[in-house]
Amino acid sequence: MSGLENEIRGFLQERGAIRVGFASLETLAGGPPSADLTYVLPEARSAVSFALPLDLQKIRATLAKKSHNAFEKNNIEVNVEATNLSIELARWLEERGHKARGTFANNFYRQEVKGWQRTLPPDVSHRYVTVRSGVASFGWSGNVGIKGYGSSIILDTTVTSVELEATDPIPEEDSYCDRCKLCVTSCPSGFFEKDKETSITLGGKTFTHAARNSYALCFLVCGGFTGISKDGKWSTFSPGRMEVPENATEAELFARLQKAIENYKKWPRRSDGDGGYENVSLKGVNMRLTCGCCQIVCAKDKKARTENYKLLKNSGCVIQREDGDIVVLPPEEAAKEFEKMDPAHKALYTDAD
Ligand code: SF4
Ligand code: SF4
Repeated sequence: MSGLENEIRGFLQERGAIRVGFASLETLAGGPPSADLTYVLPEARSAVSFALPLDLQKIRATLAKKSHNAFEKNNIEVNVEATNLSIELARWLEERGHKARGTFANNFYRQEVKGWQRTLPPDVSHRYVTVRSGVASFGWSGNVGIKGYGSSIILDTTVTSVELEATDPIPEEDSYCDRCKLCVTSCPSGFFEKDKETSITLGGKTFTHAARNSYALCFLVCGGFTGISKDGKWSTFSPGRMEVPENATEAELFARLQKAIENYKKWPRRSDGDGGYENVSLKGVNMRLTCGCCQIVCAKDKKARTENYKLLKNSGCVIQREDGDIVVLPPEEAAKEFEKMDPAHKALYTDAD
């Protein structure tokens, strides 16, 4: 590793990165379009990948439904921090005579791709750069993680024209993922499979994770439009009680999503604060980060993961009263109180017309 790679590593670690790695055009060759660095910077030769940690105490508090805002704010802040760090590194490289471009940690897509709203193709896939450069490895969920942190991390990438020496992927035996599949049972939407795998090849190396289903499934839950588990015994921090349909077609799922969005716009203002998302608007809808369970259940080791999973499963169900009050109740009480609500209010949280 030459001086420049070490300097970059030091630059990022001083600013909180827990891992840093490097990928090149060659090590990303043959991957999906979002592994093509030249989309971000036509002169690209390399990418710098890094990870920042989320706050584990705040994750535990949201899984246990003790406090949601603190986690939501932390998640947004770490995403902003990662984006700023990526841009800061790009400037640092430019000052040294190299072309470089920072990227957004999240929510930035190739909008010229037909139907991009349904597949959310990123400008660059931080996950692909991360796994190929050995910053983290794929877990079963398709999220990426690091031993000692699990998948509770935020990634970002800086793309540059300078040739950096690529780092190796994490060997399989050193992966943080032991295939416990708690991520599968923590997902109310069924977005990824329990047994079916998919793979991608980047620069001649093949990586596997769970096969994924329609993005609409995750949009329904991760978008905050619903959050009730399939058995009705727990929920995410969303008060939505619409069942996520199984075996529906892509068209049916997106029709359901459209209806859910229209209902969601009529929900009263939440009593539990804005969580920092109040001003994040997607097509006029203020987004709340109410799920991410597959990512945040997956903690540093098996013991911590199991504890997180128990917290989630025993955390009860969220409902929203007519005045906007958000309350967390044991599942039976939540169901009873919900049943007693005004039918017009109830319909906003279900798929009823
Ligand atoms: S929850 Fe278990 S199976 Fe899922 S990614 Fe984490 S370690 Fe792997
Ligand atoms: S964010 Fe939520 S709905 Fe989406 S895949 Fe993860 S657990 Fe499932």
